[in-house]
Amino acid sequence: MNYPLTLAQVLEHAHRIHGDKCVRTLLPNSDVHSYTYTALYERVKRLANAITALGVQRGDRVATYAANTYQHLELYYAVPCIGAVLHPLNVRLSTVQLAEIVREAEDKLIFVDGVFAEQFAGLQNRIGSKKIIYFNVPTQTDSLCYDASYEHLLCEVEAAYTWDIQDENWAMGLCYTSGTQGEPRGVLYTHRSMFLHTLAVNQADVFGLTEMDIVLPVVPMFHAMAWGLPYACMFAGADMVLPGPKPTCLADLIAENGVTVAAGVPTVWAAAYSELRKRRREISSFRRLIVGGEAMPPTLIEAYEKDLGVEVCHAWGMTEMSPTGTFSKLRSAHQKLSDVEKWRVKAKQGRPVPGVELRLTSGTPTDFTELPWDGETVGEVQVRSPWTASCYYKREPTMEHWTGDGWLCTGDLATIDADGYMQIVDRAKALIRSGGESISSIALETVLLRHPQVLEAAVIGVPDEKWGERPIAVVVLTPVGAVSNRTDDDLSEALKQQLAAEFPKFWIPDRFVFVDEIPKTSVGKSDKRALLAEFASQNLLEEKEMFVSNEW
Ligand code: ADP
Repeated sequence: MNYPLTLAQVLEHAHRIHGDKCVRTLLPNSDVHSYTYTALYERVKRLANAITALGVQRGDRVATYAANTYQHLELYYAVPCIGAVLHPLNVRLSTVQLAEIVREAEDKLIFVDGVFAEQFAGLQNRIGSKKIIYFNVPTQTDSLCYDASYEHLLCEVEAAYTWDIQDENWAMGLCYTSGTQGEPRGVLYTHRSMFLHTLAVNQADVFGLTEMDIVLPVVPMFHAMAWGLPYACMFAGADMVLPGPKPTCLADLIAENGVTVAAGVPTVWAAAYSELRKRRREISSFRRLIVGGEAMPPTLIEAYEKDLGVEVCHAWGMTEMSPTGTFSKLRSAHQKLSDVEKWRVKAKQGRPVPGVELRLTSGTPTDFTELPWDGETVGEVQVRSPWTASCYYKREPTMEHWTGDGWLCTGDLATIDADGYMQIVDRAKALIRSGGESISSIALETVLLRHPQVLEAAVIGVPDEKWGERPIAVVVLTPVGAVSNRTDDDLSEALKQQLAAEFPKFWIPDRFVFVDEIPKTSVGKSDKRALLAEFASQNLLEEKEMFVSNEW
């Protein structure tokens, strides 16, 4: 049967087959809201009627300004299932960026979580008249300017609604990239692409979610469709635990809800590790951590696997890919390896998810050659799949991003080994070019993080008159490292030696700068653009800065 693949099927299946499964949300006041998939389903139908009554038509964009909550989950279904386009706004972007995004997307309605009322007011001033619906309406509403409250709307409409998605190629969602490398760009997903992505990630060798799982998506619902988890969990029948806008303690959430699988960027798990370690007996349900968005340091993978008994699965992808592209799980052939060797494999970003094709290339998108999968040759990764975008929203496909034969140029540099495991070496734009040679910032950071006193590391390339660019390492010390007797001089020397054992002399950073914190992007990645800007204005060059010999 040539049957349209739509998210209405995901919702209907969740209700009919897994109606008793639960969604729990941590509320800002620390209470927990809990209801079943069937209760959610009934509210989604009401919401569908309410949004339609507000004049939203097929193809209209409906924005959200919210964290991971049950209302946001309801919108994840109601908006696409009436044929409109869900557009989650990244609440951590600046109001200037968001105003531009809302202008481009021409959002018809914006659903706002009351906990963000204050910060939303700044955006509201810049976007002119838009219909605004609030949920979790704050008690102090004097200065609040909005059209309706969410709960009020749901009360006023009928519960019956018949889904009518006639074409699986109708758009269902719009996400903007987080802008790590440049201004955010929109990516439009269709029912078909998201349905296929959902099936793909639910395979046993990918997220592998089952009805037995209780899943904690820490990845925000405004970042790359929360990696598809709102759809994958409900199709699998897994319970969901939504951390809300202010998750104070992930260890509490995992322990109290018996979470089995959690997902988020590495910085979140680096921060949560010591609390989880203290309470490792209470978190025995926690079996798998899905981590991506940025490279997970091998030391952190080891810590989670060895100390907490949690299987770490590294995922790689992009907003442009819905977002999942590769997933790192061990093969049968790896079972005989030592733990250390296994962790080395797990530090790679993994093998293509079935349905995703990769190729490694050198040259330009218009003139390139394919490179071998030998685990050593570095090239740019090109990708295609039924859930990868063929252009940016409202823009023609550019030669910079898509090849003539329809593959996406990811801008990521990697090796791929004979078994198909891809390892990201760097983003092409983050690669440091020094004296005509390339230096991988990720490779340097990985080795720096092996030092017991290093908590976080970011290596950036700063302009240099003689060499073009030279690397600088910005380092956050562990609490123990920060109070140790070693001077910054000693530490710089130790780090320098550690790197010198593995890399050519010209790779060794000219300076090691010790800071309290590395700035993060809106989705929790190390913000190298901000670091570069800080260095350009010399803000970081306080007394703490150390100059290390430049005679390389
Ligand atoms: P932005 O491009 O604004 O950062 P995305 O979240 O879509 O928005 O970022 C996609 C990029 O994130 C990838 O091209 C890659 O450089 C990086 N990335 C994603 N997952 C990983 C991972 N597991 N390891 C290393 N880098 C990753």
